[in-house]
Amino acid sequence: MSLQDHAEELASDLGVDTAEVRSELETLDKYDVPIDEAKQTVRRRYGDDGDDGAVPSKDLAAITAEDGSVSTTAVVLTAGKRSIQYGGDTHVIQEGELADETGRISYTDWEGFDLDPGATVQIGNANTREWDGAPELNLGEGTTVEPAEESLSVPYEPGGEAALADLEPGDRGVTVEVRVLEAESRTIDGRDGETEITSGVVGDETARLPFTDWEPRPELREGSVRIENAYVREFRGVPSVNASEFSTVTPLDRTVEVSGSAERRLIRAAVEAGGLFDVELVGSVVAVRDGSGLIERCPECGRVIDGGQCRSHGAVEGEDDLRVKAILDDGTGTVTAILDAELTADIYGGGLEAAREHARDAMDRSVVAEEIRDRIVGREFRVQGSLTVDEYGANLTATSFAERTDDPAVRARELLEVTE
Ligand SMILES: [Zn+2]
Repeated sequence: MSLQDHAEELASDLGVDTAEVRSELETLDKYDVPIDEAKQTVRRRYGDDGDDGAVPSKDLAAITAEDGSVSTTAVVLTAGKRSIQYGGDTHVIQEGELADETGRISYTDWEGFDLDPGATVQIGNANTREWDGAPELNLGEGTTVEPAEESLSVPYEPGGEAALADLEPGDRGVTVEVRVLEAESRTIDGRDGETEITSGVVGDETARLPFTDWEPRPELREGSVRIENAYVREFRGVPSVNASEFSTVTPLDRTVEVSGSAERRLIRAAVEAGGLFDVELVGSVVAVRDGSGLIERCPECGRVIDGGQCRSHGAVEGEDDLRVKAILDDGTGTVTAILDAELTADIYGGGLEAAREHARDAMDRSVVAEEIRDRIVGREFRVQGSLTVDEYGANLTATSFAERTDDPAVRARELLEVTE
């Protein structure tokens, strides 16, 4: 809606001149007052106290991103703290989910209302906006939060306890009990310069997911732990568990069972899921793509280079490496399986030295990729790894690549285990 549209709507509501309302809105706009707040101000100026009339109380399911301001009564499901950079300062905000009998909604609390999971609250004059394709409530300067007179009973468990398989990017204030499967320290360029973080893999009975600890804690290096107040974001197309300075990590006195093997999926379903951290796909290799076999990488950035030229670093002395990019097809879809040097050596039947010798003898580096083509194209493989789906296509970074058995009994059993 343009300023003129807002002015017309408001002027007709208040029964006053449009030009007059428009000029007031324009003034407020110059001071960067959000349009909804500006309209409230103009309403009050014309004696229409919008607080009861203009801020309707709504059930959560009825709230849309276009509502502007709403009031509602809801149960706090989760409340996760996070610090953000805003206007050059660090602000602590709280984010989570609210619920009533009709549904759930995400919220961001900019004003430190300190919502308590489990409490029923009456929220006045919250702003709505679209966040990740759904409406979200913003509790800001004009918002009021009060304990409700009666508690609501809702069909959701407050507290944010979740299984890894149920986590979705955007979840906040989450509590998980997991076992650390891999952990390594990394130095990254954070907003405050170089920062040490821990990243790795955690697992529970339902799934394995990558994690990042932004305040590296010794507890989050090994063993079974309870992580409270974590948030979830997308990492290479899969949900990742993030522990912040506000999270707590407590060692558990039990060992968390971790789901055994990667879940088998049809390729189409895996690609439609938008990426999966730990998945098994079975299909025929229909082609081996260019950039496979004995390749050269830039020593600076590790990118595959062609003719000694790196896109970022110009002329460089390339370093030899082995890799396969194999197109896997199961009849429902295709992905590119990417095999590292070790898996490539297994199917090629020799490592880097053997490949170099092979290329020298033939005076042609492409013989290595040709040999690999001969060995795998037209055959069926079970490939496990991490699937990412993005602008570079559907790529499965393989952790195992094994030719499929021909035993019909095994094949029949496998077919029954596939998750659609
Ligand atoms: Zn480079």
